[in-house]
Amino acid sequence: MMQAICRIAGHRIDRGRVWHDRLDFRTTCRRCHTELLRSSEGWRAFDPGSDGNEARCEHPRATTRATTRAA
Ligand SMILES: [Zn+2]
Repeated sequence: MMQAICRIAGHRIDRGRVWHDRLDFRTTCRRCHTELLRSSEGWRAFDPGSDGNEARCEHPRATTRATTRAA
């Protein structure tokens, strides 16, 4: 669920989790975990309805939940 602060200040990009799904760069919001997509205007929420595409790949670690990238 989107938090109020995200509506006001925008989502907090998780730069350690950005990946390319073959069509666009993707990540999630560190605050509310909304799926985000990088459009030509910048990051915005991913919309499965209009953005859904078979060519897109899931995050490579989506199923494994392996180690987090060392800071
Ligand atoms: Zn957010």
